[in-house]
Amino acid sequence: MKHYPFILFYLFCNVFIYAFHGGFLVYFLCFLGFIAVLAWGSFDITLGYFVNSITHKRTKIKEVALTFDDGPTEFTPKFLDLLKENNTKATFFCIGKQIEKYPETFQRIIAEGHTIGNHTLSHSNNTGFLSTSKMIEEIEKCDDVMLKIGNIKTNLYRPPFGVNNPNIAKAIKKTQKKSIGWNVRSLDTITEDEKKIYRKVTKGLKKGSIILLHDTSEKTYNVLVDLLLFLKDKKYSTFTVDSIIKNQKK
Ligand SMILES: [Zn+2]
Repeated sequence: MKHYPFILFYLFCNVFIYAFHGGFLVYFLCFLGFIAVLAWGSFDITLGYFVNSITHKRTKIKEVALTFDDGPTEFTPKFLDLLKENNTKATFFCIGKQIEKYPETFQRIIAEGHTIGNHTLSHSNNTGFLSTSKMIEEIEKCDDVMLKIGNIKTNLYRPPFGVNNPNIAKAIKKTQKKSIGWNVRSLDTITEDEKKIYRKVTKGLKKGSIILLHDTSEKTYNVLVDLLLFLKDKKYSTFTVDSIIKNQKK
């Protein structure tokens, strides 16, 4: 957890309180502001308040990472076909319960040389409110499913909804995972317009970007078709997220 934003905020509050000669309302407003900053920090993965998530790769070459969350699903095979045609490797952050539903697709992702990451057992809507032990269970049970069905282990973890908090930070430490975020989000689960999603992704692209996508819809598949053409046109190559960790160990 990084403390300096809080220290800065505390100092700011004190100046503010001093300037306005204290008063309950001023304290109260400061408190609300502090809660807002805290909530914002919990939900914005690029800020890394509680967990140092990897959000990009430091690189001098034109390369980006395609990451797909929430699968495997009925759509995943189409994504795999397309990636194969383009000779592109991606990183799939899979949900344990989805792996149990689509075991063959999970095995195919591995067989085709893509990288796998843990995205918890059930991707609970309450992820931000779970206890440390429940969170550890979510991560470890996903590991168990991956080992049983795919015979693999991964140290990569992506937080559901990008949510981080002190409990999740402890769970990540305990399970010895590396938290992987992103610095280009597509908003492909909430945006209906494919062109908008495409523009959002291509606009923010930089060397070393990690792009967040979901292999959960036809819509994202269509965006990926165009995105792969864009990458080819702009001469971007692709990397998988495990390559960042491997480089760090050197
Ligand atoms: Zn997710």
